[in-house]
Amino acid sequence: MKTIDNFNFENKRALIRVDFNVPMDENFKVTDANRIEAAKPSIIKVLEDGGSVVLMSHLGRPKGKNVPELSLRHICAKVSEVLGVEVKFVGTTVGEAAEKEASNLENGKVLLLENLRFNAEEEKGGEAFAEQLSKLGDIYINDAFGTAHRAHASTTIVAKFFPENKCFGYLLAKEIKAIDKVMQTGEKPVTAILGGAKVSSKITIIENILDKVDHLIIGGGMTYTFIKAQGGSVGDSICEDDKMELALDILKQAKEKGVEVHIPVDVIAADDFSNTANTTIVDVTKIENGWQGLDAGPKTLEIFKEVILKSKTILWNGPIGVFEMESFAKGTIAVGNYIAEATKNGAFSLVGGGDSVAAVKQFGFEDKVSYVSTGGGAMLESLEGKTLPGIAAIME
Ligand code: AMP
Repeated sequence: MKTIDNFNFENKRALIRVDFNVPMDENFKVTDANRIEAAKPSIIKVLEDGGSVVLMSHLGRPKGKNVPELSLRHICAKVSEVLGVEVKFVGTTVGEAAEKEASNLENGKVLLLENLRFNAEEEKGGEAFAEQLSKLGDIYINDAFGTAHRAHASTTIVAKFFPENKCFGYLLAKEIKAIDKVMQTGEKPVTAILGGAKVSSKITIIENILDKVDHLIIGGGMTYTFIKAQGGSVGDSICEDDKMELALDILKQAKEKGVEVHIPVDVIAADDFSNTANTTIVDVTKIENGWQGLDAGPKTLEIFKEVILKSKTILWNGPIGVFEMESFAKGTIAVGNYIAEATKNGAFSLVGGGDSVAAVKQFGFEDKVSYVSTGGGAMLESLEGKTLPGIAAIME
């Protein structure tokens, strides 16, 4: 795996694909600069080597049109501030003006291109557009994990114009290593905790992961499809009747593969999908009509705790209950605490994909787990076992 550390950038211009798709308020002020912070180490490495940097990113969904509100012009000052170096903005992505600015760039300087998605060829993965982009740098660095699952011009196609001179930036390399650690090289026992609303959206992940883990913890709304499939009564809980056979098949496959599956045994049921609903703790197989399971119960959490604390490698994707409502956040917080404790005791823990990342941030576990992935869709596709085009393009 070629990373940025395999190159010396003295007198070289790096063309870096970053993910500066940051949120802004109505006055175009960046409200969360995390993504800019995350790209900083790679940029600084190039500058400290004695090279210069051309940054390219998308922002929002302009769909191939020039949408002034989505210009990267608005974030240029913030990028300067975060990096601690002056960043020059050029109001275009390719062509004469961009090439001129890039070739005039002195070592130690940074140039920011306009929103890549103003050009329809970006998302189409246009070759000619990618070739034009490639003229802006000597070495291509991909440091945008969030778009690594897209075969866009700047994330994938451009790499072919740098057959020898292409590599992963620090952020992307870290993501790849973290996923590898869980999916390939993790110390046993390996445990995956999968929650969230539906079996249907997690099915490919579950199937892929059965070959890699020793324990599979199922939580969240998925629980009820598994319980009903085995003959339990789930009342008004979220349940995908058309996925019940699949659930039984997963359990069968798990057994054949020697994977221990842990499904809730008790839950907090509510008489309404509301934070102020009446609640009761019930056996998961005996939920009456008019009631729905919205969080894991205390016996369940004891079981989850025991499994998590003996794990050496942990993957967490998807909340354990409806964590957005305080009354049903206990399970998710408890699981976060167990993972934090296991991590403190030496386990490697990766939190990735969608709502579990939001939960981890909301409840303050971000610094207590080993790694929180920055890429939603890219992370999910990795867990599904897919080869991401942006990663493959650098490996080739
Ligand atoms: P996902 O995007 O598939 O990870 O699903 C996340 C969503 O699942 C969150 O918004 C949770 O509120 C929701 N969720 C978790 N547990 C339940 C449950 N028991 N019933 C309904 N929704 C749930």
